[in-house]
Amino acid sequence: MTDTRPAIPFRSAVMPEALRADSRIQFRCHKDISCFNACCKQTDVTLAPYDVLRLKRRLGLTSTEFVRDFTVPFQMDGDGLPGIKLKTDESGACLQLAGDAGCCVYEDRPTVCRYYPLALLALREKDSATAEERYSLVKEDHCRGYEEPREIGVAEYRAEQDCETFDAMNREWYQLVLKKKSAGPAVGRPPQASLRLFFMASYDIDTFRRFVLSENFRQTYSLPDDFQAEVETDDEALLSFSYRFLRQVLFGEHSVQEVADAWDQRVVQRQEVWAARKQMEIERRQAAEDRKYAEGGDGARGDFMMRCGTCP
Ligand code: SF4
Ligand code: SF4
Repeated sequence: MTDTRPAIPFRSAVMPEALRADSRIQFRCHKDISCFNACCKQTDVTLAPYDVLRLKRRLGLTSTEFVRDFTVPFQMDGDGLPGIKLKTDESGACLQLAGDAGCCVYEDRPTVCRYYPLALLALREKDSATAEERYSLVKEDHCRGYEEPREIGVAEYRAEQDCETFDAMNREWYQLVLKKKSAGPAVGRPPQASLRLFFMASYDIDTFRRFVLSENFRQTYSLPDDFQAEVETDDEALLSFSYRFLRQVLFGEHSVQEVADAWDQRVVQRQEVWAARKQMEIERRQAAEDRKYAEGGDGARGDFMMRCGTCP
């Protein structure tokens, strides 16, 4: 299955004909079709944050375990914006393919798999701030679904595949990735720390949760009283918050309020830590000098005794 979505923000392809929600396609996929599973034997599936969330829950894993065991990293742009794809075996088959039984995570399959053979495109007119959603049709030789006698509207197909649930949870993330990609040098290459934060907030939601619930975070950002309790248990709420937070980190769009003087306090704390470390280093060196002096003193006396040979 070719990754049909990268044209959204992930990579630019030759611009295909853009279909609209009311466009119609001829296509049907079912278990008795001659090509059943052919698409899953050659996969290139880019994952969005909500895909990871659904798959890690489905597999009973933490996001850290899922990302480690079932994905491979790639760069989404020249600035090293991190993306992840579903891992395959050596032949290119998806690890979620359970032989003839088909996809073993079907109800929670990623967005790319749901849309296929459609691809979601985000097109932005030159002077427009928002992207319009369009669709393109991907025709691959191994797929016989186009020969099936069924015509269906794009909107109906999206509803049949439950694409909207996934798009609703990923849409803001697509927008911010698109913004990052189209901003180019205006935004510049984010520092490594921001790229690591992007990875964690986008794909490793369980680590991001620990980060958000940490004492440091609470001392830095001012959030509503019920925020901690909500994000402790609600993955979707945490994901929505991660998009806001990333906009703040990447584009300086402040929507997460910082505690007044938090940074000044951090600077003071850091200065105190540095001062304490410096003092410890001075004391360590002083102690080493003292030891050397003490050893050097004994050694000198021994040397004198050997040369003199007359001392009692
Ligand atoms: S997740 Fe399922 S539908 Fe998607 S490529 Fe893998 S096996 Fe196929
Ligand atoms: S019809 Fe296309 S999408 Fe369906 S199993 Fe065959 S190759 Fe895959």
